[in-house]
Amino acid sequence: MDEKNAQRRLQHHEADVVVVGAGILGCAVAVALGNQGRSVIVLERSLREPDRIVGELLQPGGVQALEKLGLRDCLEEIDAVKVFGYDVIYYGSEVQIAYPENVHGEEEGAVGKADEMRGVKRKRPEGRSFHHGRFVQRLREKVLAHPNVTVVEGTATGLVRSGYTDQILGVEATVQGQPDAYFGSLTIVADGYASKFRKEFRSDAPVARSKFWGLELIDVPLPMPNHGHVILGDHAPILLYQIGTHETRALVDIPENLPTASIKAGGVKGHLKNVVVPALPEQVRPSFEAAIERDRLRSMPNSFLPPTTNRKPGLIMLGDAMNMRHPLTGGGMTVAFNDAVLLSEVLHPSIVPSLEDTKLVLQQMQSLHWKRKGLSSVINILAMALYSLFAADDAQLKALQQGCFEYFKLGGNCIDGPVGLLAGIIRQPFVLFYHFFAVALYAMWIYITEAGALLVPLRAVLSVGVFYKACVVIFPYIFSELRT
Ligand SMILES: Cc1cc2nc3c(=O)[nH]c(=O)nc-3n(C[C@H](O)[C@H](O)[C@H](O)COP(=O)(O)OP(=O)(O)OC[C@H]3O[C@@H](n4cnc5c(N)ncnc54)[C@H](O)[C@@H]3O)c2cc1C
Repeated sequence: MDEKNAQRRLQHHEADVVVVGAGILGCAVAVALGNQGRSVIVLERSLREPDRIVGELLQPGGVQALEKLGLRDCLEEIDAVKVFGYDVIYYGSEVQIAYPENVHGEEEGAVGKADEMRGVKRKRPEGRSFHHGRFVQRLREKVLAHPNVTVVEGTATGLVRSGYTDQILGVEATVQGQPDAYFGSLTIVADGYASKFRKEFRSDAPVARSKFWGLELIDVPLPMPNHGHVILGDHAPILLYQIGTHETRALVDIPENLPTASIKAGGVKGHLKNVVVPALPEQVRPSFEAAIERDRLRSMPNSFLPPTTNRKPGLIMLGDAMNMRHPLTGGGMTVAFNDAVLLSEVLHPSIVPSLEDTKLVLQQMQSLHWKRKGLSSVINILAMALYSLFAADDAQLKALQQGCFEYFKLGGNCIDGPVGLLAGIIRQPFVLFYHFFAVALYAMWIYITEAGALLVPLRAVLSVGVFYKACVVIFPYIFSELRT
């Protein structure tokens, strides 16, 4: 059967599933569906090792999903670095935000609670950071070696539609300079942030308020090794995390039309030298300055795109093509791997014996849309809300930013909850709302009490504005998750 299917894929370009893109999501989905006995064709524009500044820190929730997919060993032999949590540096003072012990997500609730009752301490979850390209190549090795998957190096150029039903039947592509076509009962589009196909199926487009500019620092002594670093101050957030034995990624958020990055002020280089360098921990500065002179400055838009339900017969869009959030919290790959797990569950051959049954597949897509909320809406909302606070550009947001940092300093559940959400371990949106509004109330309290006694009545009145701002920050993202 495998042999016959392989021949069908190679000679007739036919399979159960055609996947566009062998990036994070495409590889995971191809392996997951291939493992279930589906015949899969993957079309990838370039099989060379990607050289990108994205997808370099995988949260513990992503590591768990990778394990479920049987792909955890892709984190080996790529010089990956263990990540135990974050070091948040706010105007020079630090707080360690370790991934929490004994925190359990919805799905493993029963086991986790039993462990706690027995007083058993479970292993602290770990993330991994690495060179994106090396990790993608490991994922691709798995796809290339899979007996049920055929990989074709070529660029998808269009979708093949049925003339009668408008159902998607596959993709047109350019392979080795020649036009070609590949057919599947199901076409999964996973062509990333600049998806060529997205606009055919939805009227909204990604919105980007800022870009991340990336530099690679060499042999830099970080204040807290094995932790991601978030640097906050009178500037948008700066991230630092080690991606190899000798290399550390610096990502500098630069909002649109920032005066300190204008041509007059020396452009991006000027901003890096004049604003970012002085904000960095002292031991990081020489290496950062060297990278400014040495590196080709590269940037990526930090996009927001709320999720939608797949409604087109024969087509599924996933990954960045369907849903994006600010990369501040490093959640994109965790969402993608979790989606691959969920997709393989809802399309399991015991539920959907034939992918030609498009009605049943679409029903299962509705189910996927809601099932993924536990993890993806938490990560989406948290990333967007936290970005607003961390890039604070007015007095109320600044008060919320300070409140957030002081909240972390309280320790205990004030750290475990938020970082458990960020890590993709706690998958309950309610926990996110609880901590967000706890931060808002704490920020109001600090705002009222930090000024002298005489100012307390005035501050008490103005603090309502802080709470209002918190609502303005979070509610649009909550609503964006509620749409069907
Ligand atoms: C600056 C930045 C930093 C980030 N950092 C992190 C992080 O630390 N941790 C994290 O979890 N997430 C991070 N993300 C998000 C993460 O990179 C994405 O969520 C993830 O890569 C999405 O996977 P994907 O498979 O949808 O897309 P991609 O990984 O981009 O894969 C898309 C694939 O499709 C291929 N392709 C595109 N068009 C075609 C075509 N027409 N035909 C054939 N193939 C095609 C591409 O070559 C590519 O291989 C970051 C994002 C940004 C912008």
